[in-house]
Amino acid sequence: MRRAIYPGSFDPITNGHLDVISRAAKLFDEVVVAVAFNEAKSGLFSINERIEMIRGATGQIENIRVSRFDGLLVSFAQEQNACAVIRGLRAISDFEFEFQMALMNRKLNASIETIFLMPREEYTYLSSRIVKEIARLGGDVGAFVPQAIVEGLREKFRG
Ligand code: ADP
Repeated sequence: MRRAIYPGSFDPITNGHLDVISRAAKLFDEVVVAVAFNEAKSGLFSINERIEMIRGATGQIENIRVSRFDGLLVSFAQEQNACAVIRGLRAISDFEFEFQMALMNRKLNASIETIFLMPREEYTYLSSRIVKEIARLGGDVGAFVPQAIVEGLREKFRG
């Protein structure tokens, strides 16, 4: 059983994340989408809202599980019996931080490999942060996130 962890904030999940998830699901027997819980950094959506949104958006992919995690990523990966951590790489700007994290995680646990996946080109400029900013200003985010999330964003910014 080859299991991978795809960790992130997913606040909210975007089509870029979904692109990475579907690529990872083809490579591994199971992919655990792990939503990072950080008490100090509360997002726009609660952890449960984010988990529900990911479940809704990935329902058609059989080998996906969604879970929350806190603490050290490599410890969570080990607990879950995972052999790999998936990260998405968009552009050069992601590289430095991701490279540092991957090498640090290897130092902490050499048996877990970090795998980088590139999304479709049109998603390389997509981030949760920019989607929230557009939605907050009343722009149309329908091309960037699934419909349920368009509605979730509308709810959050209503008023
Ligand atoms: P974090 O807060 O850990 O960066 P995110 O939820 O923003 O969490 O992202 C999780 C992972 O998905 C990261 O590896 C990030 O680089 C990747 N990612 C985010 N947006 C995209 C995208 N549009 N295309 C491909 N990968 C992405």
